[in-house]
Parts: sequence; structure tokens; C-alpha cells
Amino acid sequence: SFYAVEGVDGCGKSGMVRHIVAHLEAGGRAAIATREPGGTPQGEQLRALLLSGNDDAWDQQSELLMMTAARVEHVRRVILPSLSRGVSVVSDRYVGSTIAYQGAGRGMAENYIRLLHREAVGDVWPDLVVVLDLDPEIGLARSKRRLSDGAIDEGRFETLDLAFHHRIRQSFLDQAARDPDRHVVIDARGTPEEVHARTLEAIDGWHTN
Ligand code: C5P
Repeated sequence: SFYAVEGVDGCGKSGMVRHIVAHLEAGGRAAIATREPGGTPQGEQLRALLLSGNDDAWDQQSELLMMTAARVEHVRRVILPSLSRGVSVVSDRYVGSTIAYQGAGRGMAENYIRLLHREAVGDVWPDLVVVLDLDPEIGLARSKRRLSDGAIDEGRFETLDLAFHHRIRQSFLDQAARDPDRHVVIDARGTPEEVHARTLEAIDGWHTN
């Protein structure tokens, strides 16, 4: 299956991706962890371009096209080949983040983002999107701590105002509400262990539906 983990900055996505992969492997299934933008050498180069510089380093149109270009490489080189070999894919962000950040955040039309996605990669959508729902103030505080620890060095988007990050959170909730069969929304407050336990319960519940 194809899983995507989405949420605001600092919601705990990357740890969650590793946790879901470990859970799938413990159940005897092959699975890989990957991320967007990134997931391929080409995509990682685009990621480095996208995340460096100031907030206005790229026109929003260029940003959307580069995010989509990174996804084309990711889908063709990693996601589809893995799925066709029976390997589950767990991605830290996917098109839901593009709808949230470039759409709700930057004001690009959602219809255009979806159209571009379909033209560029085809109808490749996650089987299940895990939305880690968190107040962006809590998330930003978490990621600022990681920035000052030197654990991550990509701060471009964390400098944007809080209203921007609230629109991102709301977009993920809206996407989930419009397509509840393919989304689970998890309360991402608390310790990683608590959030992991909540998520596995929700995923197992979703599988038996
Ligand atoms: O999730 P991750 O920390 O890898 O994302 C890196 C940065 O890129 C984040 O600050 C995120 O807000 C931003 N981003 C974005 N648009 C996307 C995906 C990520 O602005 N479609």
C-alpha cells in the first residue's frame, strides 16, 4: 500500500514515517520510507534549491512546478516501481502538502494543482493519508528547538507568519473531511510514543474497515 504522512512543520512526520515502516515490517511486509520534496537524487537537488534562500527566492508558480517536478521523479523512479514489486511506500509528505502549502498557503488554485499532478504523474494517490494534526505554534516551537540543536538546517518556511501555518493546518483538515475514506486525522499533541500508538490504532482500524 501507499501511505503519505502529512501535517504542519514540527508535527512529527519523519519519526512517524519510520514508525509505520517498522510496524509494516514487523507484520511481515516489505516497506520503504521516503519523502517529498526529495526521495530521489533529482528530487533532493530540487529540495535543496527550494529550501534555500529567502521566503521570496522563488515565484509561487516556479515553486509549484519544482515541487511537481520532484514528484514526477519520485513517482516514476521510486513509488511506482516499489508498489509494483509489492513493497509498501510510506512518504513524508505528498501532493496533500502541495495543496496545503502552494495552494492554501501561497494561493495557487487547488484545481490547477490537481490538474498538474494528474498530467504529470497520472492518478497516483495514496491509499491512506495520515494527517498529524497539531496547532502550528506547537509545531514551530518544536522545529525551532531542532533548528537550534542543529538537527535540521532548513528554515525557509518556518519564518513565515503564523496565519500562513494556520491555513496549512486547515487545508489538511479540509482535505481529510472531503475524502474521509482515504484519510485518518491524528491528534499529534503529546509524546512521540503517544502519537505513534494513536496512529497505529487508527491505521489498523482503517485496514479492517
Ligand atoms: O516536511 P519537511 O520539514 O521536510 O519540509 C521542509 C520544508 O518545506 C517545510 O518547512 C515545509 O513547510 C516546506 N514545504 C512546502 N511545500 C511543500 C512541502 C514542504 O513549503 N509542498
